[in-house]
Amino acid sequence: MTQAALLRVEDLRVEFSGRRGQAMVLNGVDFELRAGETLCVVGESGCGKSMTALALLRLIPSPPGRISDGRILFQGEDLVTADTQRIREVRGNRISMIFQEPMTSLNPVFTVGEQIAESLRLHAGLDARAAQQRAVEMLQQVGIPAPERRVHEYPHQLSGGMRQRVMIAMALACRPDILIADEPTTALDVTVQAQIFDLLRDLQREKGTAILLITHDMGAVAEMADRVMVMYAGRVIEQGSCEQVLGAPGHPYTRGLIDCLPELGSSIGGGRADLAEIDGVVPSIWELGRGCAFRERCPQAMPRCATDVPPMFEVGANGATSHGAACWLHAEEATA
Ligand code: SF4
Repeated sequence: MTQAALLRVEDLRVEFSGRRGQAMVLNGVDFELRAGETLCVVGESGCGKSMTALALLRLIPSPPGRISDGRILFQGEDLVTADTQRIREVRGNRISMIFQEPMTSLNPVFTVGEQIAESLRLHAGLDARAAQQRAVEMLQQVGIPAPERRVHEYPHQLSGGMRQRVMIAMALACRPDILIADEPTTALDVTVQAQIFDLLRDLQREKGTAILLITHDMGAVAEMADRVMVMYAGRVIEQGSCEQVLGAPGHPYTRGLIDCLPELGSSIGGGRADLAEIDGVVPSIWELGRGCAFRERCPQAMPRCATDVPPMFEVGANGATSHGAACWLHAEEATA
């Protein structure tokens, strides 16, 4: 793929302090996001997916957390060192985020129209009347029936699916370059989930927005992803196109996730395929020792895995998109 990166994350490290000392929640995360593409971020709870999203918007709770190293280059500008004023301009304007449970993000005491209009007044400089008019248009665009009436309703008067649409309308109101969607459909039934994904795809086609989709649902990955990034214990352990990663996974963890999903194919366009259990548990970030963090659960672990952290190796040359896996199994191919 030749398109230039809109966002480039380099060696991003997030550290948390606690009674047990310091722990790396993100440990050298590297990836890029290109205009108009959907990058799906997959992994079990606690692997660093949501922390990555929060770090991009400089929303890591501090203390106890902090970005301790790395760069987040958005159109060439480093957001890690940008001042607070600049981050406020970027957040919600150039980079927007939607969350799993819209009630935690929508304010219960304001109508949905007031909340969308507020975002437009702040970021797009519209006056109250124009912002209200645009709020109605946005509700219509995200498929809310009778938007002229709904714009005056409060979040509790809407269904879960409608509230999620309102969140999407708010997130897209300022035509952001990047939309970060953290488990946006987990709380919704499969029919509404399919509608939300259709909506995101349509809006992406229309506006060229890049989407960073964080999900547990491999069916959603198969349906939405151009590229996939798999995370484990605060690191990116595999990256590639959707076909490469789902069709020929290079990391035993990714393979385990996919092998646990015999019905992945049938989930596309229909049901759900949440990440199934792989034997063993994700190690605590407070107890990560040397070597590969997956070694206790890995059926192919070898002595080297206990002592050295595997770097990202290129996995075969099976496509125009780079396909990498952080696993010592690929060390030989890389040197061949
Ligand atoms: Fe398994 Fe070793 Fe590869 Fe880690 S580096 S996934 S333990 S084979």
